[in-house]
Amino acid sequence: MLALFDLDNTLIDRSGGLENWARGFVRSRRLGEAAESVICERLRDRAYPADFVHLREVLGLSDGPGDLWREYVDGVARSARCFPGVREGLEALRDEGWTLGVATNGAGDIQRAKLAATGLGPLFHGICVSGEIGARKPAYAHFEAAAALCGARLSAGAWMVGDSPETDMEGARVAGLRTAWVAGGRAWTDGLPEPDVVVSGALEAIGVMRAAV
Ligand SMILES: [Mg+2]
Repeated sequence: MLALFDLDNTLIDRSGGLENWARGFVRSRRLGEAAESVICERLRDRAYPADFVHLREVLGLSDGPGDLWREYVDGVARSARCFPGVREGLEALRDEGWTLGVATNGAGDIQRAKLAATGLGPLFHGICVSGEIGARKPAYAHFEAAAALCGARLSAGAWMVGDSPETDMEGARVAGLRTAWVAGGRAWTDGLPEPDVVVSGALEAIGVMRAAV
């Protein structure tokens, strides 16, 4: 059976890593207090090189946007942390014969740097990053490519684990996958069909999937 996982705030604590990085960056440039929230607000959902063209301007930085992006990629990858127990859970799934994939929206360099820094990368049979394949979740093409990169087919049955109701859950449901929503204390989005299961984190989702086979 194939299991696809979102990366940010599903396998790794992206929010915590971003805040850590922003705090250190603001200190290193001696920026005012408001700068930290300006950075976090801009990069909350996703970060691309173009965001640093904007931030450079509004924060009045002299660094080149390309240098800022590289500083961000290195810093965020260094501070990326996998949620407790998730690595062991993924290893257990692999040992039981599951095929594991990452299905993530974002730029290839930052997403792969985080997978490398946390040591999670080698656990997956395939890693699908929207910036590398030109299709973002919730597009069917993204899920299809993720399965193909794992050497699998969606039609053989698959799960998707993720924290976004719109991109992860609705995209996967339409693509015919079973869905496990990492709620993180949030309420479900009104108007969307509900996920198959609601879990507190990826580790609980792994337990549900193992029990469902
Ligand atoms: Mg996410």
